[in-house]
Amino acid sequence: MTSLRIQPDMRHPVTRQRVCPMCDTVSTLPELARGERAHCRYCGHVLFKRRHVPIGTPAALAITALILLAFSLSYDYISFSSSGISHSITLPQAATTPMVLNYPVLTLLFVIFVLLLPALYLIGTLYLYLILALRRQSGRARYVARLMHYSLTWVMPDIFVVGVLVSLIKIMSMASISVGISFWTFCGFSLLTLLTVAHTSWNEIWEALGGPCRAPKMDTSKRGLQQGMTCCHVCQQPGRVDEHGHGRCTRCNEVLHARTRNSIQHTLALLLVAAMLYIPSMLWPVMTINQLGDHAHQTIIGGVLLLIGYSDYPVALVIFFASVMVPVAKLMALLWLCLKTRQPLPFRYRNRMRLYHVTHFIGRWSMIDVFVVTVLGSMVQLGALMAIIPEHGIVAFASVVVITMVAAERFDPRLMWDAAEDAFLRQNTSLQEVMKTSHTSSGQDDIADAAFDSTQEQG
Ligand SMILES: [Zn+2]
Ligand SMILES: [Zn+2]
Repeated sequence: MTSLRIQPDMRHPVTRQRVCPMCDTVSTLPELARGERAHCRYCGHVLFKRRHVPIGTPAALAITALILLAFSLSYDYISFSSSGISHSITLPQAATTPMVLNYPVLTLLFVIFVLLLPALYLIGTLYLYLILALRRQSGRARYVARLMHYSLTWVMPDIFVVGVLVSLIKIMSMASISVGISFWTFCGFSLLTLLTVAHTSWNEIWEALGGPCRAPKMDTSKRGLQQGMTCCHVCQQPGRVDEHGHGRCTRCNEVLHARTRNSIQHTLALLLVAAMLYIPSMLWPVMTINQLGDHAHQTIIGGVLLLIGYSDYPVALVIFFASVMVPVAKLMALLWLCLKTRQPLPFRYRNRMRLYHVTHFIGRWSMIDVFVVTVLGSMVQLGALMAIIPEHGIVAFASVVVITMVAAERFDPRLMWDAAEDAFLRQNTSLQEVMKTSHTSSGQDDIADAAFDSTQEQG
């Protein structure tokens, strides 16, 4: 394994300079106190966070979360009863029932996003902090840390918990429901997973695994690629790239790309597929409710109307927003950002970056409805009395969510800044000049930003 052989590049000095992964600006980090963070002065991206929790905290959180997960898999999750017949499910049963009902995709999504990836992320956290505590240099640990970095977007136990709550509200009027021990332990697992992610200090982990950031001295008045440098997306160390924009990080061994290859083409192709799937996902039923011989097909919008009929306005709003609005908004936003790499001006840079960050963050929440159908399909199985069966619509909808998430990952925001830079050069001004003017007049920057700028001037 090549990762076992990598060594820090000692030819270069330890550096506090960073290349922003969002806009390719070169900056020098200020000295930060615990709990402080440094933002990129151009796009606002967080470049560095100083840890403010004791080193053992993420490990303690991770081990507690794993114990709670073990409990969650062992006891009853939810019981559902109607007309004297009751049905209890455990989480493993919730996972396998969609497969029995010929919807293995739902089983796969549930197992991967809700159980497997969160569990692996927590085990990875424990492993990394063990390596840190033992002060060992390990290529395998670097490999684990890289895998954890890529899995983070797809860790979704929190979204599953919200999906379960929505399911309970949907079904409450039809039958009586009781929650088991596993329900509460899984809520705890979900919360502790979120806390583990929030408290994991990646800067500290990478410093321990691969040494401090080392890079040749860069000119902060030029962008990274102009100096043959780029940011490692995994460990944040600036790294040198060749004339094709490729290289390899000497700290974590990740492949470096100064710009994501064919970013716009791939993003647009994925958006086209997602837009085509969105239509059947709204028109086809996502589930069928069989009740005493009656078969009622329900679409996503039908489900929202039903909730409005029951006066469950907040839940109706959540489902309408997460399942109907968010996918469309995300498609439109990414399409607009792709177009802005062709027509960069006028250059409202902060609005664009905010839109990109919101698009990136909010997309995963559309999985709520997928988990609602998974839970209802597993829970409501009372034979001829009442049963809920998933339908094709939910598979189309899950595909839309996953594809738009991949599209957001493929989009490289640095291309917008490149396009703006070219446009400004044609107007005989530079991006740096425009940013300097707009930065001074915007007045939107926080304390860390101000500290950041003062240090950079000294550097
Ligand atoms: Zn930036
Ligand atoms: Zn790296």
